[in-house]
Amino acid sequence: ISLPPRLPIRQLPAEVAERIAAGEVIERPASVVKELVENALDAGAHDIRVEIRDGGLRLIRVSDDGQGIPEEDLERACARHSTSKIVRVEDLEHLQTLGFRGEALASIAAVSELTLLSRPIESEKRGQEEPAAWITVRGGELVQRGHRARPHGTTVTVRELFYNVPARLKFMRSARSEAGQILQLLYRYAAGYPSVRFNLSIEEQSLLQTSGSGDLAIALAELYRLPLAELLIPIEVTDEEGIRIFGYVGNRVLAQPNRQHVMLFINGRPVQVRALQEALEAGYRPLLAKGRHPLLVLHLQLPAQEVDANVHPAKTEVRLRRERELATLLTRSVRAVLERSPALPAESTWP
Ligand code: ADP
Ligand code: MG
Repeated sequence: ISLPPRLPIRQLPAEVAERIAAGEVIERPASVVKELVENALDAGAHDIRVEIRDGGLRLIRVSDDGQGIPEEDLERACARHSTSKIVRVEDLEHLQTLGFRGEALASIAAVSELTLLSRPIESEKRGQEEPAAWITVRGGELVQRGHRARPHGTTVTVRELFYNVPARLKFMRSARSEAGQILQLLYRYAAGYPSVRFNLSIEEQSLLQTSGSGDLAIALAELYRLPLAELLIPIEVTDEEGIRIFGYVGNRVLAQPNRQHVMLFINGRPVQVRALQEALEAGYRPLLAKGRHPLLVLHLQLPAQEVDANVHPAKTEVRLRRERELATLLTRSVRAVLERSPALPAESTWP
């Protein structure tokens, strides 16, 4: 038998380790947008603007009107394992925020040129002329800092994503396809947070806008440009164990060619849980032609200890204590509202 030569085990230089770790969280431009939008939501933003150029490889900019970051914390915000969201491991059991790993800004800044510009809400309240502060971190190194005026909130600008990770750059699809993923992602957050006003511009074209009315039906009408609210059937279920399901089931004329419009949120977090996604479709299946998928936006409110979000760096997968029971409940609930709703026009009548 031939064995490979034995090589010494060495600790990776910090800089190499950084880039590898960054790759776990930041796979592509859409992962950057996801992390930045989640930070804006965690900061309590009501208005989130996203701007993309060249599918995000040239520029990603996310601006919010959230609580902002004090100047003395800007560098810390970009350091690995630095977070304001948890202090001890027990905090993971009752997470109220989307973020908690304290890795996103550090990971992004390790593989791009990131500018973090922020003005904390306190500075505005004091009514001082204090300008906002900014820092630029490139490949993990602080390269510049300064001040400029702006209202409270934060703007993160990411340029030249993956400039120092050529292997990753090679895996990027066309700007169009990367932009398409970002658009899908924003649909999900806009449907998940109807009280936040979202605006997405891709290659200088505004492709998505919601008003932040707080009403999920209005947000969906804005997103899908629906003239008719009656195409959305409300669903609202509370079971004995305190599980609450609410949202909208799209009329079958809204059937979609792919699964991307089956959106599930658990305690406000957009998640992809295969078994639950399938359970939702199963409730709907009898109404759909083959290869068609429903438009379905459901929020699931569960006691925090039922959910473990600390499974995967991207946090879209979660572990659920009672996944089976939940799946059954979802299928039953969707079927029940569909049976109760009046006869609906057939799919072919929709343009
Ligand atoms: P995490 O979100 O897991 O805490 P991040 O690296 O994404 O880690 O962010 C680090 C810290 O920077 C956050 O905990 C937060 O205090 C601050 N921060 C990041 N983005 C924003 C923002 N848009 N508004 C206010 N604070 C922010
Ligand atoms: Mg974060």
